[in-house]
Amino acid sequence: MLDAPAWRGHLAGQHVDVRLTAEDGYQAQRSYSIASAPEDPTLALTVERLADGEVSPYLCDVLAPGDELELRGPIGGYFVWQLPPSSRVLLVAGGSGVVPFRAMLRHRLASGSPAEVRLIYSARSLVDVIYRSELEQLAADGALDLSLVLTREWPEGWTGPRGRIDRSALGELAWPPAASPLVYACGPSGFVETAANELVALGHEAALIRTERFGPTGT
Ligand SMILES: Cc1cc2nc3c(=O)[nH]c(=O)nc-3n(C[C@H](O)[C@H](O)[C@H](O)COP(=O)(O)OP(=O)(O)OC[C@H]3O[C@@H](n4cnc5c(N)ncnc54)[C@H](O)[C@@H]3O)c2cc1C
Repeated sequence: MLDAPAWRGHLAGQHVDVRLTAEDGYQAQRSYSIASAPEDPTLALTVERLADGEVSPYLCDVLAPGDELELRGPIGGYFVWQLPPSSRVLLVAGGSGVVPFRAMLRHRLASGSPAEVRLIYSARSLVDVIYRSELEQLAADGALDLSLVLTREWPEGWTGPRGRIDRSALGELAWPPAASPLVYACGPSGFVETAANELVALGHEAALIRTERFGPTGT
């Protein structure tokens, strides 16, 4: 949670650039999606710690309450929540790619949007599922059609989908192309590339697919 006194508001799906400056003047900058809805009282980011990363371990392990951060934003006008004519929105997330979707899901509830939303979320294991209780609660309330896809580890008796997202998984879990959902895909570059390409191969219109790539690696 960040206290951003001069914040002028944002749209669900936008991100900020966080800039860190060391005492010797060295600077590093990374982008982070805004996790909170425009209606939330505070600004929230959710950072996944990459063990060999430069910035994420600092933000997760070192940054403490009271510290200051330099933020630029909100940024982005394309990967933002918009109601499609069919009012069906398909969210496809890999890892921390779920962060902007949390803002979108909260915004949908707060704004009373009638859109039907389905989330296909690929994570290594259940422990790696970010916002698990919030997402499961939305699903239990009938406010979200949630498919968790586990790629590396799953609990005994897990009956949900496993393995990397591919054409057959998307064919089973996504709405059919005839339903014309507006699709948002977000996560590591390789994941997003695969998801978008396979949805197009299944017959979804490329013009209805919006993508946001978080980094250079695959799932
Ligand atoms: C628009 C946008 C929004 C983003 N939102 C979020 C967010 O909400 N939460 C979040 O945790 N991250 C988010 N990211 C990713 C974030 O900007 C950083 O790339 C990430 O935190 C890694 O930074 P680092 O300095 O720790 O790692 P680096 O020092 O940059 O890289 C360390 C290693 O990790 C690899 N790597 C870099 N980025 C990723 C990645 N995303 N996934 C897997 N491997 C990677 C690099 O190839 C390298 O091997 C977003 C990126 C973009 C472009």
